[in-house]
Amino acid sequence: MRELLRKNIAELKPYSCARNDFTGEAEVYLDANENWQDFVGKVDANRYPDPLSVQVRKAIEEKLGLPFANTLLGNGSDELIDNLLRCFCNPGKDSILLMPPTYGAYRVFADINDVLVEQVPLTPDFAIDFPSLEAFLFQEKASRKSGGRLKLLFICSPNNPSGNAFSLDQIERVCSLFDGLTVVDEAYYDFSNKPSAVSLLDRFPNLVVLRTLSKCWALASARVGIAIASEEIIAVFRSMKYPYNIGSPSQKLALKALKEADAVLQGLAQIKEERTRLGTELAKLSCVKHVFPSDANFFLVRVTDANALYHYLADRGIIVRNRSKEMHCQSCLRITVGSRTENDKLLAALAAYEEC
Ligand SMILES: *Cc1c(COP(=O)(O)O)cnc(C)c1O
Repeated sequence: MRELLRKNIAELKPYSCARNDFTGEAEVYLDANENWQDFVGKVDANRYPDPLSVQVRKAIEEKLGLPFANTLLGNGSDELIDNLLRCFCNPGKDSILLMPPTYGAYRVFADINDVLVEQVPLTPDFAIDFPSLEAFLFQEKASRKSGGRLKLLFICSPNNPSGNAFSLDQIERVCSLFDGLTVVDEAYYDFSNKPSAVSLLDRFPNLVVLRTLSKCWALASARVGIAIASEEIIAVFRSMKYPYNIGSPSQKLALKALKEADAVLQGLAQIKEERTRLGTELAKLSCVKHVFPSDANFFLVRVTDANALYHYLADRGIIVRNRSKEMHCQSCLRITVGSRTENDKLLAALAAYEEC
């Protein structure tokens, strides 16, 4: 990890904010130039939030089994992806590896940070192409110049937009092959029955796992992402993150959702049930060529004409994601599993489409 790190980050003297100097509880806070008046109530919006989100991380340890010492929260996993690039990739020199089709944010943040993107596409059925990956990594390592190198490899599992999760064996194989940092984005982990890469952290210190409260935990607007990594990597993130990256309202919302874990798990069971039903019903339609199996809360669906169907649905107030321009996704829509009512509306609209 140390030798992968950018020099300026390794040598960074972190900013120390008032709430880093004093944690605990006190009666009078005159340390942070806050307004003592609270106009919105309930969420302590007048006070700076806990920079280390201690309570939320304790709840995350308790409810999600992610060890307190190995977690750091981000303003959504998006912030954590950006932090990875800013910590490890020297602009204009280093590169990252993506396996498209995958989550678009990795490339955008790489572009913003002036970091080169290398690609080893998944196979047409969205499996990791190990022969090509091995060849690429071998060649990259052999051709390293003093200037820059491949630093990060992103695996999205379950993968967005294809919906499939990779087995632990496969992820382990990538970790063994790659001598940089392997990042496993588990945003849709909760919807999958495959085991988490978190269990590999003990054996692979250069592994970072990302989770989020945005999907299964229904807090997309609170912006709470979770990085799980070695204490050493967490310490680096801590040194460079925005001091108050998670506001108190968001921390409160996260705590509340985690307290309601039973209800959330019930909701998850409902979504999985709907996923089975929606997948079955979609497959019966003649405008649907193929429903890719899903370990997430969405389906990638190959249809007869993605563009026409996208506009047809949009005209009826049903918005899906047109993914037909993505690698191996010709004529594909990505459809989120909604409520039973929403799914019924979608299915009715698709049935009507076939009749005209
Ligand atoms: C939705 C999603 C996220 C979540 O991003 P947040 O910033 O946590 O809301 C992360 N990764 C993937 C692949 C996603 O689809």
